[in-house]
Amino acid sequence: MISEKLHKAINDQINAELWSAYLYLSMSMDAEDKNYKGVANWFHIQFQEEQAHARIFMNYLNSVEAKVELKPIEGVQTTWDSVLDMFKSTLEHEKKVSALIRNLMSIAKEDRDYAAESKLNWFIEEQVEEEEAARDIIFAVESVGNSKNDMYILDKELAARVYTEPAPLAGK
Ligand code: MG
Repeated sequence: MISEKLHKAINDQINAELWSAYLYLSMSMDAEDKNYKGVANWFHIQFQEEQAHARIFMNYLNSVEAKVELKPIEGVQTTWDSVLDMFKSTLEHEKKVSALIRNLMSIAKEDRDYAAESKLNWFIEEQVEEEEAARDIIFAVESVGNSKNDMYILDKELAARVYTEPAPLAGK
């Protein structure tokens, strides 16, 4: 049985993942407004991934007979100074999410809730990838500098990103 403390913390995490989804959707819309369609695509996929993260946590609570209680989603920033600013904000945000996931893992360990630990392991690894992806693109955008031509090429590369359902949702 899941502890009340972990139940509440995962409920809060569902809200945090949905807020992340909303944040990246907002970045996607700002990128559309700035005519970077590839960047907009990248963030739109990020938006889908965050919704998938929320679903994984919701499925987990449902599986352990713990009720999911959805809360209001806070507003998000709507404009960024530049594409670089968007990806730097992404990295900072993902570092905060990593800390939240680590906190969930600490509670699961305190509780000796091995099932929750097992589920959270996937998120621990996912966060390493999230931070790495943001860092890689920051490096790419910084390398482009003021070259409009290079930014055009990078935007085309980001347009190629496609959504794939995260493993924990396969068949669900
Ligand atoms: Mg997430």
